[in-house]
Amino acid sequence: MTGHARSGLVQTVLGPVAPQALGVTLPHEHVLSTLEVYLEEPRGAAEARLLDEPLTAANLAAVRAEPYRNRENLLFDDEDLAARELILFRDAGGSTVVDQTLPDIGRDLAGLARLAHRTGLHIVAGCGYYLEQTHSPAVTECTVEELAERLVAELTADAATGGIPCGVLGEIGLSSPMTAAERKVLRAVAIAQRCSGAPVSIHTQAPGAQGIRALDLLEAAGVDPGRVAIAHVDTDIDPAYQTAIAARGAFVEYDFFGWAEVAATAEHFVHSDRERVAGVADLLGAGYRERVLLSQDVVTRVQLAEHGGGGYARIARDLPPLFAEHGIDGAELRRLMTANPARWLTWR
Ligand SMILES: [Zn+2]
Repeated sequence: MTGHARSGLVQTVLGPVAPQALGVTLPHEHVLSTLEVYLEEPRGAAEARLLDEPLTAANLAAVRAEPYRNRENLLFDDEDLAARELILFRDAGGSTVVDQTLPDIGRDLAGLARLAHRTGLHIVAGCGYYLEQTHSPAVTECTVEELAERLVAELTADAATGGIPCGVLGEIGLSSPMTAAERKVLRAVAIAQRCSGAPVSIHTQAPGAQGIRALDLLEAAGVDPGRVAIAHVDTDIDPAYQTAIAARGAFVEYDFFGWAEVAATAEHFVHSDRERVAGVADLLGAGYRERVLLSQDVVTRVQLAEHGGGGYARIARDLPPLFAEHGIDGAELRRLMTANPARWLTWR
């Protein structure tokens, strides 16, 4: 099936589905991945011990404070664990998860297809290249056009003949400032987007105008901003920045719900969920309710329910009272988590 034949549909790892079938959707998560590339050097004997300790209740607080100093915390390689965690989201009324893990950080398409069968959830997989420090040699060796061809091949793999198609270009990594290699990837993404009609997700690393710069580059290359989600706007909530993204017609993604408690000493992610909900309410008040995406970017084990975190179900199960304080009732929250991601994920 070509990109055009998929227009009007959402590409899951088991093949195309109608957008109406998605239901409550998490647009930015990680199900099978490894962030070992981010493992940090121990700064003494205690951290050296922590590095390879199994995660237990006894070291939970230490790992929450320093999530990148424990190896097991960064490994999502256990399908049984992933299935148990995904089922908690299904039990909270969820039905679709987008795994934005890329090949350079441990994407496992066959594993995702098995998990989709096993859990009954729709799973959409990402393709592309993350931050430069994770890039495979292909990014240097290939031309922009060759990179774009590789991406289109992944997007148009045919489930009917045993392929596992990707449904999203992302999360495409942009450091702050954007590196030359990342700019090259972004140009390839623009070509692949125009060939396919697939949605795009941009990882932004720091506050500021980075999302706007990405939109400038993509739009100049012919990409409709309405196809693009700017992720991680809630590392540093800035009403002017988020309304500027929404005014361009792009999606504003609040995807760090729950992070304040698992990365307590981090420079970013420090907003509470209460502050995130207030930021979302501001966006709705400014008339941009169709541009909001909500997710949790679960990518460390301490975020999982079995390790004391909110897991994939946090927003849908635990946060409706916070949204209700801002006049966003259960039906409205459900609309935000259903209609908006469906519109973003549908190829056009
Ligand atoms: Zn990201």
